[in-house]
Amino acid sequence: MRLKIVQTGEPVLRAPARPLSVDEINMPGMSELLTHMRDTMRDAPGVGLAAPQVGLGIQLAVIEDRADYLAGIKPEILAERERAPVQYFALFNPRIVKYSEETTEFFEGCLSVAGFSGLVRRSRTVTVEYLNELGEPQTLEASGWFARILQHEIDHLNGRLYIDRMETRTFSTMDNIARHWNGVPIPVVREKLGITEDQTGEN
Ligand code: ZN
Repeated sequence: MRLKIVQTGEPVLRAPARPLSVDEINMPGMSELLTHMRDTMRDAPGVGLAAPQVGLGIQLAVIEDRADYLAGIKPEILAERERAPVQYFALFNPRIVKYSEETTEFFEGCLSVAGFSGLVRRSRTVTVEYLNELGEPQTLEASGWFARILQHEIDHLNGRLYIDRMETRTFSTMDNIARHWNGVPIPVVREKLGITEDQTGEN
């Protein structure tokens, strides 16, 4: 079943989501919700979906970066973004316990800000603690695009959208990104858009 993805302006996207107990994670019906979220993410298609995006204020997100999504992207772009396939998994109550000081900046989009994109600086590596779909504690260290996806989805669970963090002068339609900035190095994008101030790279 495909769930409705709410768009920016819906209050649920701006409210901190509620953590779930292990009993709630193991509740009948939760596996169906995960399946619906996974199917909704694949149908969009997207590489992550957080529960608030389908109107639920609970600390749950699903992530998957499929090999077939990467097939049409140039190898040099994948290398620059450090993007590699990520198997489907679900996270409950995730927390970022460590951010790398090193950051990267790339265009990012969101299924809840449909059709738009902007440059967002994020930590290159993060360590995340979460509960898996059995309610078991897990720790994960991720780098590159996977780390970006995690930061984006966990932001959703804290009522944040990428537009809160983006370089606002870069906010564009997806069509215009493809038309004007396809293959253009990020420093050149910044210069051409007249972004002069220094970035601290802090989260
Ligand atoms: Zn999003």
